[in-house]
Amino acid sequence: MFSKILIANRGEIACRIIKTARRMDIKSVAVYSEADAAALHVEIADERVFIGPPPSAQSYLIADRIIEACKKTGAEAVHPGYGFLSEKAPFCEALNAAGIAFIGPDVRAIGAMGDKIESKKLAKAAGVNTVPGYLGVIADDDEAVTIAREVGYPVMIKASAGGGGKGMRIARNDAQVREGYKSAKNEARSSFADDRVFIEKYIEEPRHIEIQVLADGYGNTVYLGERECSIQRRHQKVIEEAPSPFLDGKTRRAMGEQAVALAKAVNYKSAGTVEFIVDAQRNFYFLEMNTRLQVEHPVTEMITGVDLVELMIRVAAGEKLPFTQDDVKLRGWSLEARIYAEDPARNFLPSIGRVTRYRPPVESQFVRVDTGVYEGGEISMYYDPMIAKLITRGMDRETAIGHMREALDAFQIRGVGNNISFLAAVMKKERFLSGRLSTNFIADEFPEGFTGVELETEVNDRLIAVVAFVHDRIAERNRTLSGQLPGYQPPRQNFWMVRINRQNTPVFVDETDRGADVRVGGQVFSLVTSWVIGDLLWVGTVEGRKMVVQVDIRGDGYRLLHGGADVVCQVLTPRAAELAELMPVRVPPDRSKVLLSPMPGLLVHLAVKVGQEVKVGEELAVVEAMKMENILRAERDGVIAKTNVEAGSSLAVDQVILEFE
Ligand code: ADP
Ligand code: ADP
Ligand code: MG
Repeated sequence: MFSKILIANRGEIACRIIKTARRMDIKSVAVYSEADAAALHVEIADERVFIGPPPSAQSYLIADRIIEACKKTGAEAVHPGYGFLSEKAPFCEALNAAGIAFIGPDVRAIGAMGDKIESKKLAKAAGVNTVPGYLGVIADDDEAVTIAREVGYPVMIKASAGGGGKGMRIARNDAQVREGYKSAKNEARSSFADDRVFIEKYIEEPRHIEIQVLADGYGNTVYLGERECSIQRRHQKVIEEAPSPFLDGKTRRAMGEQAVALAKAVNYKSAGTVEFIVDAQRNFYFLEMNTRLQVEHPVTEMITGVDLVELMIRVAAGEKLPFTQDDVKLRGWSLEARIYAEDPARNFLPSIGRVTRYRPPVESQFVRVDTGVYEGGEISMYYDPMIAKLITRGMDRETAIGHMREALDAFQIRGVGNNISFLAAVMKKERFLSGRLSTNFIADEFPEGFTGVELETEVNDRLIAVVAFVHDRIAERNRTLSGQLPGYQPPRQNFWMVRINRQNTPVFVDETDRGADVRVGGQVFSLVTSWVIGDLLWVGTVEGRKMVVQVDIRGDGYRLLHGGADVVCQVLTPRAAELAELMPVRVPPDRSKVLLSPMPGLLVHLAVKVGQEVKVGEELAVVEAMKMENILRAERDGVIAKTNVEAGSSLAVDQVILEFE
């Protein structure tokens, strides 16, 4: 076994690999860029090596720096994680040449599966079902139209070198093929420096279901069941689960056997994933094989009891798989939700900055948190915006979802925008609960984007009871503080008005031994809790049902987060509530005459000049953040009065870029 390994990655996955290495008594070496000097993976590793400036092309993606770091520290093997160098055959070759082991498959398997056209040919030859389509490179848009018609609409135009959901377009007619062909090609050229595209049938109402395979260097190859990853946004996974609520034993076995056949065809070694697209009739078709550890691997670990990273390390060190296919048993259900630094209410724009509060839920037999950040740390604009992965498990799907909802309620992040409320909203959708998933789920269920969560009246009343209880405790403590002027102590107050959106709800709080009985309107809620002043999380039962609420105390009231809802409220004495009625309503400033930066980032390009007339939809500026270029367009016709910043400047959120007349 290795005595020291280097992890050529950052964030949660680097941390996750270091943990397994530590359990196996293997020393770990972290690498880090300038932006990551204080990152969590650097802190928890046994050793650390600096490898360059923040942009990954100047640090994490430079193979030579990684090899140098291995030599310097004496690391005998490299685990690449996912992304970065994980699927780069030349990196693997360079490691081999330097006598360092790669914790992953052989160069040839990476090469064979790295190209979508080539891997589809290979899969076909190995007897794997592939999506009907044309397996050649397409020369121009005329040829694209001819082929699209042959394949039959709708079709998908795809970059052969694609990954991460990029370079992919759906087309339903000739015009869309011409447009999609050009834009897929452009995106592929700029993202992968390789503009070959091909066309395949677009499977309608599809599910994404993938098979985890694991192989050693002695010809033993097994599959560890499937993961359903149909909850996607822009072809990128958001929520995954294992097993799939859709597969029957027969389909699972057929998919597993085809995945194993493909792995064997390329002499696959290590952990890998064969991705399939599945139609409503349970026909399945090969999409691609990812020759690395997958982001969503934990759900498989939760239902098989296998540590995939450990087995990758063991296989790379020359060990045999310790079990056979017959030993693989799937137990219970697991879900994973990806916690991203993004603002769901602002069309999921990435969010960066300091994480002023970071309190993930407590880990247990049912809850696992794979984290790459810590309280006080920073989410930088240079890398993937994933903050953590929240994984839960239960005997069945319903239980696993219940744990997920509770864990999301308890997950506290402040300082950077995050998608927890959105994830909580998905967990409540009837269609999600019944398991009727497809990759269109998010587009179908949130046609207007994410506009927040409206709580049912019953839950809202429970929330009112909780905040009234919290306020009553604080008011009572303040009333009974020692050292107050004699005779000035205010009388006991337990009748309050909870004010939300200028609506008052009268409440009466009657403290009991273990909590309080709170009357909200005409109903009494019995609260049992061990909450004390200072706790940021209210955990207890309301009428015997468990409830977890994040309670932030603000200068003038409270902010409550629960079930995806974000409620700002005040708890006032009846007299104060009466007076609050007289307060003027704050009118938000008029922003129709300015263009604001929707996020912190870099102003790459300013497309307009002072005096220029612009039409609605016209491009005004391009802002880059987190590897994504965001085009800001005119929301109505107008004339540019003033530009406030120049191309190349960095922007703060809500900074004025230009003004209209
Ligand atoms: P998974 O199926 O594991 O979710 P993804 O396709 O979402 O895999 O990619 C996992 C990670 O790797 C993401 O962080 C993604 O941004 C990154 N990634 C995937 N493909 C590429 C690529 N070709 N170049 C750079 N990064 C990539
Ligand atoms: P990437 O390398 O970016 O992960 P994939 O080929 O795995 O690319 O596709 C990513 C996602 O795009 C899939 O999970 C699925 O949602 C969608 N997709 C890809 N090909 C098809 C297809 N032929 N029909 C329908 N959806 C598809
Ligand atoms: Mg994929």
